[in-house]
Amino acid sequence: MQRRKFIKRSLQGGVALSLGATIIACTESSKKETVMTGTHSPIAICTWGFTKANEVAGIALKNGDNALEAAIKGVAVEEENLKNTTVGKGGAPDREGNVTLDACVMNSNGDAGSVVCVENITNVAALARIVMEKTPHVMLAGDGAEELAYKHGFQKENLLTENSEKAYREWLKTSEYKPIINIENHDTIGMLCMDHNGDIAGACTTSGLSYKMKGRVGDSPIIGSGLFIDNEIGGAAATGMGEEIMKTVGSFLIVELMRQGKTPQQACEEAVRRVVDKNPNHKNFQVAYIAMDKKGNTGSYSIHPGFAMMEYKEEINTRKESKAALDS
Ligand code: ASP
Repeated sequence: MQRRKFIKRSLQGGVALSLGATIIACTESSKKETVMTGTHSPIAICTWGFTKANEVAGIALKNGDNALEAAIKGVAVEEENLKNTTVGKGGAPDREGNVTLDACVMNSNGDAGSVVCVENITNVAALARIVMEKTPHVMLAGDGAEELAYKHGFQKENLLTENSEKAYREWLKTSEYKPIINIENHDTIGMLCMDHNGDIAGACTTSGLSYKMKGRVGDSPIIGSGLFIDNEIGGAAATGMGEEIMKTVGSFLIVELMRQGKTPQQACEEAVRRVVDKNPNHKNFQVAYIAMDKKGNTGSYSIHPGFAMMEYKEEINTRKESKAALDS
């Protein structure tokens, strides 16, 4: 039997078995009855130490959200966090003082949606989902994406907060463009979720590099670079220097390495190694990955120490420090 068919049949068998064990749950917030048909214990992982965001996704999964819904709810926490200067509202602007956001989502059917260079909208991962579900396209840029947002009820917001404007004015005094290695500059949130049915989906959202050139788009909204999901194999997400992640199509590479039999940890390490080996300049930037396979195994790895992944498993949300290529 062809492998693809075999996997599909096995999954169908699993679903049939699990239907016998249908769980009825009551979500805390809405008190609405949710029917969960699967038996998998939900898992959420995300880049960096975003405790709250990962917990929100984990609890959403526990309460019966599917993997995509949970990932979008989770990353929205950081999109709305004014203190996060690399995601959503409060994100650092480009060199002209404009905050422009990038995001993408992928569901467990392999559908994808993405928005790039969007101004005035905070929840761009949710907007990427609209592109995926309500348009014939995968990616929308700038004004087109913004217009679509208003048509679907998104609010127009000024994303430049008082603090980010102040920091920008300060930056203008030297206008020195020098990416900082860790979370001070890279706090993009990439999130991977596995729901009760064992289906995997993900979201990635960012304001990109601080004081980037006008029009610059990084890896985060690029399917295969900032995020990739293949529900038969697993998923991966990236943070760090987008230009380097794009050149090696990092998230796609990790999923393909897992397809060839590598664990999520080994696949993340290999993807970082590709960047390091090709780039004598690698000590001057950070690249970090997280990954999850179909069995719920997870992994993470980065060039520089200082990267961490959040992991919600068996209803416990844990911060996991990553190993790094430059660990001494
Ligand atoms: N990867 C993001 C980008 O290049 C930045 C980051 O992770 O901080 O746009």
